[in-house]
Amino acid sequence: MMPDRDDPYLLTPGPLTTSEATKQAMVGDWGSRDGRFLALTARVRDRLTALACGGEDYACVLLQGSGTFAVEAMLGSLVPADGRCLILVNGAYGRRMVRICEIIGRAYAVHETAEDTPPEPARLDALLAEDETIGHVVAVHCETTTGILNPIEDIAAVCEARGRSLLIDAMSSFGALPFDLGRIPCEAVAASANKCLEGVPGIGFVVARTEALAATRGNAPSLSLDLHDQWRGFEATGEWRFPPPTQVLAALGQALDEHAAEGGVAARGARYSANCRVLVEGMRGLGFETFLAGALQAPIIVTFRAPSDPRFEFARFYNALAERGYLIYPGKLTQAASFRIGCIGRIDEAGMRDVVAAVAEVTGELGFDPAAKLSST
Ligand SMILES: *Cc1c(COP(=O)(O)O)cnc(C)c1O
Repeated sequence: MMPDRDDPYLLTPGPLTTSEATKQAMVGDWGSRDGRFLALTARVRDRLTALACGGEDYACVLLQGSGTFAVEAMLGSLVPADGRCLILVNGAYGRRMVRICEIIGRAYAVHETAEDTPPEPARLDALLAEDETIGHVVAVHCETTTGILNPIEDIAAVCEARGRSLLIDAMSSFGALPFDLGRIPCEAVAASANKCLEGVPGIGFVVARTEALAATRGNAPSLSLDLHDQWRGFEATGEWRFPPPTQVLAALGQALDEHAAEGGVAARGARYSANCRVLVEGMRGLGFETFLAGALQAPIIVTFRAPSDPRFEFARFYNALAERGYLIYPGKLTQAASFRIGCIGRIDEAGMRDVVAAVAEVTGELGFDPAAKLSST
């Protein structure tokens, strides 16, 4: 079952499998202040804004670093120093934003639901009605902890009706699930190069309302994670404030070309949905159980319950799949033992069928029963 290639398939929430051309795009030297690189920077910024269906009133601010850097920059720059936000939490990435607010000193409230439960728009509405001090709501689109899809359009509608600003972490959905700023009115949305856009790690970005960016001068508690200054730099000179990851941007430019050639968000989302279907059906066929009910599952990453059979051991399962060229991901649930398999990256339905076949082979080799009922951790 070994895939016919040197690199493993990365069935993870990123970095993930990239195309040959995207890898090749990194071979070269770029002057960070040279016209060619500045043109590439401008093109990528425009493409990303367009992917969010943002018009003239939105701008894309690229940032050196992983997605977390972009989220931290978004929170620190757009939530005023004397403001207060409400963070919707149903997994590790929501909890990470709580931690960021603690560290950067932004006042916050938390509305937490279970990891298999999206926030209720009606409950959000009631919370906002009760608390006038909340200026910003902070939400995760697809909570990659489980792969659950949160009702972002409904959340946005409630925020708009209540006159509150919305900040979205769309890290693991951007580029594969529709994100239309016309239908999801928000102040900013953060994502990164190396998830559904199929670039490589090293660049995060925030597409934000220019009016909001313009109003936040001096607000960020950090020099390097200051969205306002980074944006001003791009607008004034086209340059990054500090040396950019040039090869990463070159890869992202190529990955965006491939995204467009594939047919954009709709086609990317359709391929991932097909991958997800093959994976879930195949794994269920072997006896594995998914953590989420089908309707809540985004076609990004699937959480499976760890079989309770003592012969199942994640490390051995992982290693046996890795030997076959597939890297999966540990679980991140607080409530149950689990593991995750991603549907995203440069892989298609046929590739996913090979993944399921490899899991079947490994299951036989290790001799555990995938359907053994789980005891909670
Ligand atoms: C991956 C991810 C992040 C963090 O991005 P990193 O690149 O891992 O720092 C934040 N939020 C969500 C929803 C993610 O999936």
